[in-house]
Amino acid sequence: MKKSLTIGWLYPELMNIYGDRGNVFVLQKRCKWRNIDTKVKYLNLGFDLKDLISCDLILMGGAQDKQQQAVAKDLTKNKDKLQSIIEKGIPGLYICGAYQFLGNFYKEANGQKIKGLSIFNLYTQNPGEDTKRLIGNAAFKFGELDYTLIGFENHGGRTFLGKNLMPFGKVVKGFGNNAEDGLEGAIYKNSFGTYLHGPILPKNPVFADYLIQKALEIKYKEKISLEKLDDAIEENARLAIAKRLGIEI
Ligand code: GLN
Repeated sequence: MKKSLTIGWLYPELMNIYGDRGNVFVLQKRCKWRNIDTKVKYLNLGFDLKDLISCDLILMGGAQDKQQQAVAKDLTKNKDKLQSIIEKGIPGLYICGAYQFLGNFYKEANGQKIKGLSIFNLYTQNPGEDTKRLIGNAAFKFGELDYTLIGFENHGGRTFLGKNLMPFGKVVKGFGNNAEDGLEGAIYKNSFGTYLHGPILPKNPVFADYLIQKALEIKYKEKISLEKLDDAIEENARLAIAKRLGIEI
């Protein structure tokens, strides 16, 4: 039987900067090349909960503080459902502003606090307008796959992980969560938070496949091994960026 995945894209209109939409396209393409059907649910402000529940994989991108405030209200209303999806182990990728949302709070440069969903035990604060934003190409090592993910970060917020929350990886280049502790992102169940835009999945096809495989395994309750694709072009692009960053990947 032909397999299929429903991808839920949270707030595509508001939470989508630095090419985050590319993550959706990559998942769709890599599935298509393997004859796996995909459907995308666009979960905009006021979305129908039934649509969220039907998803096998969730994506949410980053935004400026202004958009985050608009989304915060809507997302807080739907917190229970999103939390139960995350607790059930439905895989998800949450970038930058979205990653910050999953934590306890995000304190803006002006001191205003946006309450988070408290699904990830972390908090984020921007130390103030006169501190620099953390901007640039970046790389970190994801231990489980022994794979270096590369991308681009641009955030004013500094994120600090609470007790028992695993980082997504160790910073190889760039700033990561807070430019201090050498950690990048966070993992909870099968949900991944990261600061890397870029977008992250086209630049890191091994991780894109990891998400697809996890989503299929959870949906079909069986071990999945994905057909190998020719990633020569992607690998060349990765090598070019690694060279620019002065790192080995
Ligand atoms: N507004 C947040 C910050 O600057 C998130 C930015 C983003 O998503 N790129 O920290």
